[in-house]
Amino acid sequence: MITRFAPSPTGHLHKGHAWSMLTAHEKAQNENGKFLLRIEDIDFNRCSPANTAQILEDLAWLGIEWEEPIRIQSEHLADYAAAAQSLQDRGLLYPCFCTRKDIQREIEAAGNAPHGSEGPLYPGTCRRLSEDERQAGIASGEPYALRLDLSKALEIIGTPLTWQDSIHGEQVARPEELGDAVIVRKDIGTSYHLAVVVDDGLQGVTDIVRGVDLFESTHLHCVLQRLLDLPAPIYHHHELLTDDEGNRLAKRDKSITLKSLRESGVSVAGLKKELGFSV
Ligand code: GLU
Repeated sequence: MITRFAPSPTGHLHKGHAWSMLTAHEKAQNENGKFLLRIEDIDFNRCSPANTAQILEDLAWLGIEWEEPIRIQSEHLADYAAAAQSLQDRGLLYPCFCTRKDIQREIEAAGNAPHGSEGPLYPGTCRRLSEDERQAGIASGEPYALRLDLSKALEIIGTPLTWQDSIHGEQVARPEELGDAVIVRKDIGTSYHLAVVVDDGLQGVTDIVRGVDLFESTHLHCVLQRLLDLPAPIYHHHELLTDDEGNRLAKRDKSITLKSLRESGVSVAGLKKELGFSV
């Protein structure tokens, strides 16, 4: 068994992260497996080395040990580019020149645009461009993203996909909930979806413990796994911790970060106990 904790250094970790990480760590330990740490810092607009340093400090404080080396996503952009290229070579990605505004306008004009779990779906504007129009757009230097041509992808895959979740049971994949998702973003040259799937595959992760906020993304992840010929891990999408008022814990809420708990004198044993782990 190989589990992992894969935080994005966009802020400080809070109790919810501690719970998720301790669960992944315990799972690996119980099976004599491995626990990996991966820093998902591809979004350079939102991530910072200072946050990464803070994450490592928090984990060290919790007494968690991980396999070395830590995988830092920003050091592996070539791996994501290679995966994108392999999808592109099979005609599974198309350039999308739309801005958010363009998409919004198109959706409003359509009146009754199809919605997925994450909101209105991309209306497919750039999927309908001719090869000449695509080449002209690229040659003009206009920035573009690469989107998955989902119907083409599903045609290639053929049979309906399923994925396993130990908490929610077997799932029939519903990638249509995400539509033609962006696989390579305009600004960062990859996307969370692509990077996470490639890394879990390359690192041989067998069990993914993460919050239920990423449940819907898994419908797309299993399509990418199949297209990239990567093994399908087992998922454990857990509920998110909430505060006393029932609000989800958020990185922007400074008062409940691990750093502030530590500084206010909370002990590791106390925190672990509170979160339901043995000490
Ligand atoms: N990096 C993601 C986050 O911090 C988690 C990715 C995952 O566990 O798949 O939200």
